[in-house]
Amino acid sequence: MNAVKSYAAKSADKPLEPYQLDRREPGDHDIEIKILYCGVCHSDIHTARNEWGGTMYPVVPGHEIVGKVTRTGSKVSKFKVGDTVGVGCFVDSCGHCRNCAEDNEQYCENGHSQTYNSLLQDKKTITYGGYSSHIVVTEKFVLSVSDKLPLEKVAPLLCAGITTYSPLKHWNVKKGDKLAVVGLGGLGHMAVKIAASMGAEVTVLSRSKSKEKDAQELGAHHFELTTDKENMKRLGNSFDFIIDTVSAEHDYNEYLALLRTNGVMVLLGVPPTPSDVAAFHLIGGRRSLVGSLVGGIKETQEMLDYCAEHNITSDVEMINIDQINEAYERTLAGDVHYRFVIDMASLN
Ligand SMILES: [Zn+2]
Ligand SMILES: [Zn+2]
Repeated sequence: MNAVKSYAAKSADKPLEPYQLDRREPGDHDIEIKILYCGVCHSDIHTARNEWGGTMYPVVPGHEIVGKVTRTGSKVSKFKVGDTVGVGCFVDSCGHCRNCAEDNEQYCENGHSQTYNSLLQDKKTITYGGYSSHIVVTEKFVLSVSDKLPLEKVAPLLCAGITTYSPLKHWNVKKGDKLAVVGLGGLGHMAVKIAASMGAEVTVLSRSKSKEKDAQELGAHHFELTTDKENMKRLGNSFDFIIDTVSAEHDYNEYLALLRTNGVMVLLGVPPTPSDVAAFHLIGGRRSLVGSLVGGIKETQEMLDYCAEHNITSDVEMINIDQINEAYERTLAGDVHYRFVIDMASLN
């Protein structure tokens, strides 16, 4: 065992604080990574505060991890000491179910091991995330990261990037498609950038006029206010795709009405309560309401390579680890452009 520094929440109602964590010694197929940067995802907050239930305390959040390889196991072939690497939302899976066989480990039928607040495949060892100085991960779940882009801006790609890239690829978003993004936060701003890079004509739908300038700066072609009823009427049957990133309660029906025939609305956010959907909105235009969860390891590598090639990174605000509790409050208030990233050097 190796004692490493980290930040943990010890209960749902306490702020995160310094915590000494034991990491395993790298096994034959393991990589030990010194973490340079870790993004702050909304899921971190939900988990630290037990808002989804099932949090095992103390919990060390963080699943947008970029760092350098410091040690490798004797059978590791993919990486060497000094390589720049990333770790995303999960660190292992069963490896033999249908979904694992098809490189969709995020949908592992036997339960994948998430990066934190989860169990490894032995079904007893608890995982701890990226708010720590080092992490040990089996090599198959470690991603190769190009040094071409600023690494702190690459970190959020490991969750926000792949969460938006995967559905855009799966539903084959292409040049000329009309695509709308709902919610301009960590996920939404990546959806705008990646969809625009694929050639889609991107519209940001927002309740607040103040987001118009932001939307344009991110590369959106259009901006539409959803609070204006006449405007929403005019937008009926407009879009081939809607990427809905909102995690607060909202009415899906309003947005479904904006889809063209055969249009697809993809849910990426997780509102706290179930929603009512009027069947007519789906039947009336053969529309689809679908969801998507991050992406597999192979696709995450493809996304990282794609972003390096197309110069796509996240817009970030850097913080030191001792600012994490304040960053949570600001994230909840929507007061961040668009992702906090922790400089892990501040842990020492
Ligand atoms: Zn996340
Ligand atoms: Zn599996």
